[in-house]
Amino acid sequence: MQTPESPRRAGKPKRSKEETRQIVHYAELMVKMRARACVISELTGLPSLEVRDLWQRVAGRSSPSGQQPNDLAWYLKSSRRRFHSALIVQLYHQALQDLPAYAAMTNAYYHYGQITAASAPRSSWIDGADPSFRGEERDYEVPFSRANYLCKAYTNDKLANGRRKCPLVIKSCRNPSCQALFMSSEDEVREHCTVCAK
Ligand SMILES: [Zn+2]
Repeated sequence: MQTPESPRRAGKPKRSKEETRQIVHYAELMVKMRARACVISELTGLPSLEVRDLWQRVAGRSSPSGQQPNDLAWYLKSSRRRFHSALIVQLYHQALQDLPAYAAMTNAYYHYGQITAASAPRSSWIDGADPSFRGEERDYEVPFSRANYLCKAYTNDKLANGRRKCPLVIKSCRNPSCQALFMSSEDEVREHCTVCAK
């Protein structure tokens, strides 16, 4: 059955059957990438209880719980985190051009998993089959909940005083033969990535 195209935003009431089916499909993918139930629920608008059941069904155990990320300085604390978080934001903004936020986040994180496959041993991949689907949150340098928090917070918008709304900023390494994108902050003078700065 054809249904008219409607803006697919999480939290909007009255979804078509097809739309709900698609959202649940994305939610399943997020479970396989070990997104926490509360994050999936927030992104998709699916009821928390439903997502917890889904988690149990897909992962065979319950979703981890605990504090939601709230610290932007975390993304700067290692060289790897700087590269990985810049990558995630780039992928997310690309995906957001064509997809609603829940799907863009899923899509971006899936590709993040592919690109960073080498940093996670095959034994951490679910069934050893796909590097985007790993057994535990800690098998990703930047876990899904941290990635989601970052993507929500990251913006190039400025405040009235000219400072950035989000203190983090993605920079491109000044070394012409590198030019890697890395996460930095407004107050950091660094213009080279951590590898080239050594
Ligand atoms: Zn560099």
